[in-house]
Parts: sequence; structure tokens; C-alpha cells
Amino acid sequence: MSAEKQFVPPFASGAGALSGASAHRRTVLIAGGAGFIGSNLARRLLAQGDRVICIDNLETGRSANIEGLIPNPDFAFFLHDIVEPFTVKGPVDRIYNLACPASPPKYQRDPVHTLKTSFIGGLNLLSIAEKKHARILQSSTSEVYGDPDISPQPESYRGLVNTVGPRACYDEGKRATETLFYESHRQSHVDVRIARIFNTYGPRMDPEDGRVVSNFVVQALTGQPLTIYGDGTQTRSFCYIEDMLDGLTALMEADEVEPTIFDPVNLGNPHEFTMLELADLVQDLTGAKVKRDFHPLPKDDPLQRRPDITRAKTILGWEPKVPLHDGLIPTIEYFRDEIEMAQQKIGGVA
Ligand code: NAD
Ligand code: UDP
Repeated sequence: MSAEKQFVPPFASGAGALSGASAHRRTVLIAGGAGFIGSNLARRLLAQGDRVICIDNLETGRSANIEGLIPNPDFAFFLHDIVEPFTVKGPVDRIYNLACPASPPKYQRDPVHTLKTSFIGGLNLLSIAEKKHARILQSSTSEVYGDPDISPQPESYRGLVNTVGPRACYDEGKRATETLFYESHRQSHVDVRIARIFNTYGPRMDPEDGRVVSNFVVQALTGQPLTIYGDGTQTRSFCYIEDMLDGLTALMEADEVEPTIFDPVNLGNPHEFTMLELADLVQDLTGAKVKRDFHPLPKDDPLQRRPDITRAKTILGWEPKVPLHDGLIPTIEYFRDEIEMAQQKIGGVA
């Protein structure tokens, strides 16, 4: 058994940590804080005065996402795989578990580790939550519904998931971890929240992530054919990152409601698009005159996905505000800058 590491954030000790004006400042642990959603969340929380501890093994996250935060005295980064047990010195008030590769090619690269990240990583974080009396939010996923045979998908839908397909390491890892969180609440009264996140996009996605928005935008900006899997009529519902952060933080901060705040909540944008419609929009907004290459649809790729967000609207008063067209504009700008920076680096080396 590996020894438990202890991480000591610079703000963990000292008289000022939880006294006087600092008394209301929260310390928030973000597992997966160097990833797309995590690094955006870290900025949001720091801006509102929280202290942030980021734990990440940089498996799919990028140091570029958090470089700008390192000088901030309220931010601490620890390179660590959450599958290995760890503790954190000092108070922790909130834990967001965003650690897990989210892109299909990335989570399928080491499927057993993906399962361990969800379940054993989740267990390790729950143990910290229990010891610190912290509230903990699990980033679950629309993939718990698998390839759904109803649309839209409400939380009550139990899903259609293949336990032995290429996506199962992600889907079943997330499903089992929902159960782990649910039982940790029932058995040990851990204050849990479970967000079922639907496809989210925006700045700080990895250009080489392999998901559809990053692929199409990078391909359009670099003059390559757009890669369409299947015939492109499969659907997804895309949520802009700022809307997702509003939803995640609202769920985290929501106090108990009837019937229960501890059950899963769908977070996503209910506007549904085919991949061909997404390709059209990306081409319109970038002005790219590129071809489309059609590839086989990957096994078990869901044909439709659209959240029913009635529960989030009712208990959180939350719904997304940013239409896909409007969210793609800053996203395209971000990828344009990333591509330029990468080209400058290559130019500098040559
Ligand atoms: P991402 O891949 O950009 O970020 C995941 C982060 O977790 C990365 O920084 C990665 O290095 C880190 N990580 C992975 N395994 C780890 C481990 N064992 N120990 C420590 N760190 C680890 O993905 P994202 O889009 O930011 O997604 C964040 C979370 O939200 C994930 O749990 C994902 O399953 C969930 N989610 C995302 C979406 C989406 O559309 N973005 C949809 C549904 C669910
Ligand atoms: N997809 C595509 N071209 C790409 C990448 C993905 O047509 O270059 C398709 C993929 O097959 C899926 C949809 O786009 O039907 C969304 O894929 P993504 O990997 O972004 O997310 P997920 O399948 O996990 O929802």
C-alpha cells in the first residue's frame, strides 16, 4: 500500500487563515484543476475571494491552463494522481471532483486507469471530505445515460449503457462513482452533490483534446478537412463554459431542498444540434472553406443527447444563457491564439 502524501498549501496555517476578515473566505480543493473546466472554475473562485488548492496529475490537463495562477498567493498546485491516497493540511470547505479525462480518445487510452480515477480517486476525495467536513461535488456525466432511447433525458432515466464497450470505462466508472457518493451520504452523512454534465466547450480546452468542438475549430482554422464521424446526423447539446460554471457553483452552494439536493442534477444546454449543423456553424464563423472527411462512427457513440433541465431550473433557478453561436465566438478566438502561439514556438525552435 502506498504511503499517504500530505500537501501543505502556503495558506494552510498562520493566525490569519480563519480569523477576522478572512473568516468567510473558503478553501476550495479542485481535483482536476488544470483541466478545461477545472482551470476555468479556479479563476472564477479566486476572483470571488476563495482560496484554491489544485490537485492534478496533468494527464489531460495542461500546465498552460494554470501558469498564470501560480504567482497568486491564494492558489496552490500539487502534482498528484488522485488514485493515490493523500491529505491536505489545514481547512477545506469545498471539494470539486473534476479529475477524469473527458475526451473519448483520452479516456480510452488507459481504460483501467480511467476506472480507477473515477472510483478510487472518488473514494480518496470522499475520505478527505469526511475528515474535513467539506461539501463535495462529483462531476458525473450525460454518459451515464449511454446511447439513450428517450429524448430529452431526465435524471429519472436509467440509461442504456454497454458495460463492455470502449466507452464503458468512462460511463461505468462514473455510474459506480455516483453510487459511491450516494452511499457515502446515506451511510456517513457526507454532504455530496452530483452534477451530470452534458457536453461543455469554451476557452482552455486542449486544442489536441479530440472532442468535436476543439477538432472542428482547429481544423477550420488550420485549413484541414473537418472530420465527421458517421453521417453527422447524431446530436449533442453544447453548453458554454460560463453557463456551466454558474450551474456547478449554484449546485455546490445550494442547501437542502425537497425531495433531496443529494440526488443527481443534469447541467447542460437543452438546444440540440447535429454534428453537420455544428460543422456549418464553425465554418460560417471562421469563414473556412474546407472539405469534410467522413469516418466510421465509433462503437457505442450515442446517436442523440439532450438534457431535460427541469430539475436544475426548479431547485437551482439555473438555466444556460449563452447560445452556441455566441459561445463559439470567444472559443474560436481562444483557439486562434493557441494556434498562433504554437506556430511561434515552432518558428522559434527552427
Ligand atoms: P479535462 O480532461 O480537460 O480535465 C480533467 C482534468 O483531470 C485534467 O487536468 C487531468 O489532468 C486531470 N486528471 C485526470 N485523471 C486524474 C487523476 N487520476 N488524478 C489527478 N488528476 C487527474 O476534462 P474536462 O472537460 O475539464 O472535464 C472535467 C470533469 O467534468 C471530468 O470529470 C469529466 O468527466 C466531467 N465532464 C466533462 C464534460 C465536458 O463536456 N467537458 C462532460 C461531462 C462530464
Ligand atoms: N465527432 C465528430 N468528429 C470529430 C470528433 C467527434 O464527428 O472530430 C462526433 C463524435 O463521434 C460524437 C460527437 O461528435 O458523435 C461528440 O463527440 P465528443 O467526442 O465531442 O463528445 P461525446 O461523444 O463524448 O459526447
